[in-house]
Amino acid sequence: MKKQFTLGALALSMIISLGSQTLHAASPKAVELFIDQESLGLVESREAAHGALKDLAVFPKLDARVQKESIRFNNKIEVKDLEEKDPAVMSQKDLVLRLRNLSKDYLVKSQGTWQEEAKKYGLDLEDLLEANKKKLTDPVPEKICLPASKINLSIEAKEEVQYDLDVAYKTRKIEDHTLAKGKEVLVQAGKKGLERVDAKVVRVNGEKVDHLVQKIELVQAPVDEIIRIGTKEGATGSFIKPTNGRLSSPFGPRWGSFHRGIDLACPIGTQVLAADGGVVTRARTNAGSYGNYIDIDHGNGYTTRYAHLSLIEVHVGQKVSQGDPIAKSGNTGRSTGPHLHFEVCNQGNLEDPLKHIQN
Ligand SMILES: [Zn+2]
Repeated sequence: MKKQFTLGALALSMIISLGSQTLHAASPKAVELFIDQESLGLVESREAAHGALKDLAVFPKLDARVQKESIRFNNKIEVKDLEEKDPAVMSQKDLVLRLRNLSKDYLVKSQGTWQEEAKKYGLDLEDLLEANKKKLTDPVPEKICLPASKINLSIEAKEEVQYDLDVAYKTRKIEDHTLAKGKEVLVQAGKKGLERVDAKVVRVNGEKVDHLVQKIELVQAPVDEIIRIGTKEGATGSFIKPTNGRLSSPFGPRWGSFHRGIDLACPIGTQVLAADGGVVTRARTNAGSYGNYIDIDHGNGYTTRYAHLSLIEVHVGQKVSQGDPIAKSGNTGRSTGPHLHFEVCNQGNLEDPLKHIQN
């Protein structure tokens, strides 16, 4: 006597509950699983068949919290009871492997005769022999090839998922007319926020086919990045150190003479910056003891000079802002080693640059 359950495209939970409902006193000796009316082989019980289908429907999850999941097979699934004695059966694990490898030829360990193996895997004996290029009279090798099936398994999972997304922060720029043009000062660091998304995801055979966002909740608001942007053209009224370097000679009397500025020792090619905004009034090469040098008029009574340069990067008449690159340091003119000579002049009178910059 054979019993047949046609489960069709029922939810997997239904399949499993049907399995237990149909248990009765006379348990079958084995069951045969059919998908789309094709036999897939024998397992020892309906539970094993349903368990294998359930195992098959487990796919790697999204990096998300799955709140609810319903799974269904879009194939016609039937489990028939067999009352025959001692049939060769697959374990639930082997059935899962068989189902996972349905679409290709694959090797399994053999246990019985050609007939028993064919029956166990729900195969036509001829098909099994052909797939293994053997005759019925040939001994069964240790491993046999199961031919690919034409069944297209379609397992659809509907998931309600929850996941978090970063929320980018905005940048606010505040113009600052006391800051040299082009300069930026970070006032407040930006911090990204977080939102929680509830979505419905549909997967077929583990592949996402639909993703519908249901709800977005802001968990943590982002913090704006705030930057002050300098707009001040010309001089700011204070000086920055024009280059990195050690003070190798101060301003003032030196060797019975007078040192008109300070020397900042630095390797040839070190970037030289405008100490304040202004206009380039001189950019001279090979000019006596200064070598290559630049003068900047800051428009407020102050001028600055940068000497012994290896490279001049500005031209006369050019407007510069505080901190703009203007030259590379060098060792030109009357110089006893690579350094920047820097002068500050107020209304025609030299002043000690160290009074104006932080060393
Ligand atoms: Zn000097």
